[in-house]
Amino acid sequence: MRVLVVEDERRLADGLRTGLVAEGFAVDVANNGPDGLWRAREHRYDAIVLDIMLPGMNGYKVCESLRRDGVWTPILMLTAKDGEWDEVEALDTGADDYLTKPFSYSVLLARLRALVRRGTPPRPTVLTAGELRLDPASRRVSRGEVEIALTAREFALAQFLLRRRGEVVSKREILEQVWDYDFEGDPNIVEVYVGHLRTKLGRGAIETIRGAGYRMGR
Ligand code: CA
Repeated sequence: MRVLVVEDERRLADGLRTGLVAEGFAVDVANNGPDGLWRAREHRYDAIVLDIMLPGMNGYKVCESLRRDGVWTPILMLTAKDGEWDEVEALDTGADDYLTKPFSYSVLLARLRALVRRGTPPRPTVLTAGELRLDPASRRVSRGEVEIALTAREFALAQFLLRRRGEVVSKREILEQVWDYDFEGDPNIVEVYVGHLRTKLGRGAIETIRGAGYRMGR
């Protein structure tokens, strides 16, 4: 299993390399955005650990460029809770998961393993369900001919549900993926946002599966 670590903090990058190698991963390290982008395009990796604040090009840009180029290697983004960056943006740009710094190494390892296990399915650039169309690259959502404006969070929620199209997704999973793993606010926020999406996308767009969660598409 081959992992690319894109991280400019040398100590963290070295620590990750040492730890991941000890776990049996082959590890390449890039210390800036452009180098990370180049490596991710030129080589095949099972997963990429991508920092956001990077010299040359930030992690969001790297991620966006890769997805636009059709590189769907699973990406775990490292975010810092400094108020400047929103974790949701990480998912919006096409990352598969994110971890807020500082993080524990064992958590990173577990997340990375989960990503590698999930693998790199050939993902459609455009997600659809019936007449609904969501393009992660251009961030456009439409129903038939009508374009629909969504907020960043609504978009992230719709995208998450559409990526899991036909599956019942629990409120907990939604909170973890669209909000934060450590989300401690009111979990009813999910219902509120599902309500917003139904208003914008059409009442039938999202099914409520009693006691289990929500489902989009079949
Ligand atoms: Ca950094």
